[in-house]
Amino acid sequence: MNFEQVAALKNLLSSPKRIAIIPHKNPDGDAIGSTLALSWYLTKKGHNTQVLAPNDFPKFLKWMPGAHQILNYERHNAETKKFIAEADIIFTLDFNDFGRVGQMAECLENAKAKFVMLDHHQQPSGYADITYSDINMSSTCEMVYTLIDAMGDRDLIDQDIANCIYTGIMTDTGSFKFKATTSQTHRTVADLMDKGADNTAIHQRVYDTNSPGRLHLLGCALKNMVILYEFNTVYITLTQEELDRYDYEKGDTEGFVNYGLTLDKIRFAVIFIENKEEGIFKISFRSVGDFSVNEFARNHFEGGGHTNAAGGKSEKPLQETIDYFVSLLPNYKKALTE
Ligand code: 5GP
Ligand code: MN
Repeated sequence: MNFEQVAALKNLLSSPKRIAIIPHKNPDGDAIGSTLALSWYLTKKGHNTQVLAPNDFPKFLKWMPGAHQILNYERHNAETKKFIAEADIIFTLDFNDFGRVGQMAECLENAKAKFVMLDHHQQPSGYADITYSDINMSSTCEMVYTLIDAMGDRDLIDQDIANCIYTGIMTDTGSFKFKATTSQTHRTVADLMDKGADNTAIHQRVYDTNSPGRLHLLGCALKNMVILYEFNTVYITLTQEELDRYDYEKGDTEGFVNYGLTLDKIRFAVIFIENKEEGIFKISFRSVGDFSVNEFARNHFEGGGHTNAAGGKSEKPLQETIDYFVSLLPNYKKALTE
C-alpha cells in the first residue's frame, strides 16, 4: 500500500462505520480467509462489519473463526441487500470486477458506499475509491496482513486473525509452492505463527477432511484425463451425472486440476466441470512457466485470473466445448512446447 492509500483509508475509517466485506462467488480459502480477517480487524477498530458472500462456501472452510456469521446473498437475500444499501464502506476482496459476484453485482452497482478494493488479480476495473491491487502478491490474505501492518496495527493481529490469514496464504500458494510465494510471504507466515496461527491444524482441517465420495470422484476425474502430448496439455472432464454419482458437495473438486501438472513435461492443465443448474461448464486453467492462462481464459472462455491460474466458463455442450478448446491449441503450440 502506498502512502496516499494508507492516508485515504485512515481518513475513511476515522469514525465508526458500517462496513460490508464481500468475497467473490464460490469463495475459496483466500476469499473467506481475507474477508474474515479484515472483518475481525475492523471490528477491533470499532466498526460495525459484516461479511456478505454471493453464495455458500465449502465445508472445509466452515471451521474458520467467524465463518458461521457470514451471510450469503442466495440464502439471506433481504438481509444482504439491506446491509449493502445501508453500508458506508464496501470492501471487495479477492476479485476486481463486479462480474465475479454473480447476481449480487446489481446491489453493488447501486450502492452509495465508498468502495475499497483489495485484490491480486490482473486487470482491475475502476469501480473503487481506493484500489489496492498488486498482482505480485501471493494472495489477498497476504495483502490484508500488509494493510494491517501499513495502518500501524500489527499488534491487533490475534490468533483468530492469524488463523484466517494463514489459511488464505496456504490455499492460494498451493501450500507455499507457487511462484508468487516470496521470502516476504514466509516472513509474514512466520509472524502469523508467532501470533498463534495453528499451522498443523489448519492443514489438517483444509486438506485432510475428505469424504469417501470426494476421493472416488477424484478417481473418476483422473480416469477421464486426456493427455495431448503434442501440446504438453492435459484436460479432465466431469459431468453432472458423474458429480451426482459420487455425492458431490461444494468444494469437492478443489485442486483436481493440479494433478495434470504433476505429469512430466506438462505445462497446461484444464478441468471442465458441468453445472447443470447454471447451464454451464465451469473451467479451471493452470499452467507452469510463462504461458498465460489469464490471457487464454479472457480471450476464449469469458474468464480471467492470474498468469498460472485462471477460470472461465462455456455455455456449449461438453463435446463442443472440448472441440473448441482443442482447436485453439495449435495457436499456442510455440508457447506450450518451446
Ligand atoms: P479456480 O480455477 O480455482 O476457480 O480459479 C483460479 C483463479 O482464477 C482464481 O484466482 C479465481 O479468482 C480466478 N477465476 C476463476 N473463475 C473466474 C472467472 O470466471 N472469471 C475471472 N475473471 N476469474 C476467474
Ligand atoms: Mn486469491
